[in-house]
Amino acid sequence: MIEMLNVSKKYSNGITAVNNLSVKIEQGEFVYIVGPSGAGKSTFIKMMYREVKPTSGTVQVGKYNLSTMKERDVPLLRRFVGVVFQDFKLLPKLTVYENIAYAMEVVEKSPKVIQKRVLEVLDLVGLKHKVRMFPNELSGGEQQRIAIARAIANMPGVLIADEPTGNLDPDTSMEIMRILEEINNQGTTILMATHNSQIVNDIKHRVLAIENGRIVRDQQEGEYGYES
Ligand code: ADP
Ligand code: ADP
Repeated sequence: MIEMLNVSKKYSNGITAVNNLSVKIEQGEFVYIVGPSGAGKSTFIKMMYREVKPTSGTVQVGKYNLSTMKERDVPLLRRFVGVVFQDFKLLPKLTVYENIAYAMEVVEKSPKVIQKRVLEVLDLVGLKHKVRMFPNELSGGEQQRIAIARAIANMPGVLIADEPTGNLDPDTSMEIMRILEEINNQGTTILMATHNSQIVNDIKHRVLAIENGRIVRDQQEGEYGYES
């Protein structure tokens, strides 16, 4: 599903954020990305949807070879890779419905398909009744659930979550995890960067620990492994 081979990223300020990293992730896996701040986790993740281009090495995500793909094909990749952020990034002037529909309109789905799917993903995150609300009328946890609904609306093969529980309390974080687990159980590959030791230690999955731009630990059913 995902394969990185000898990938490095040196930013123009001279910092090498990812250093000759190789990794393989199979379809349907749930993988935590852990490590200290500045270790290169975000850079690693951003290379999966071509937000960051590697300086060297190759990145394959699904059928897409990110090293050779044409710029005009990047939107196809972005359909295949859904992304969720710590700060939700919902569009404040659009309703819940419109936020999710918008993600589907840009890939030219028909209004009928969009309507059906928006309600389907809202049902999955348990927020069908909030369909007419605006983001600022929702709690943080609810906003994150909407962001997840939006990220999976186009049925991506991979869902990437960069610190999805970073702004949420423990109970709300667990709710988010239950939703991510369900999405994963339906076959979507999930990569989640996190500093949440409790989640990593309680809900066991593969753990990739990154330090200084390298994978220093790759453990099935792993633990968080840092002081929290
Ligand atoms: P690239 O080499 O991929 O073009 P840049 O080095 O141009 O990336 O960085 C993109 C933007 O991020 C620039 O505006 C840069 O100033 C800014 N930036 C610089 N340092 C950092 C940092 N430590 N964390 C996040 N962004 C940074
Ligand atoms: P993490 O997500 O683990 O905190 P990052 O990938 O954000 O790590 O950052 C890795 C290193 O690259 C850090 O030293 C950071 O300051 C630097 N960095 C991140 N983004 C940029 C950028 N756009 N331009 C320059 N340096 C960056």
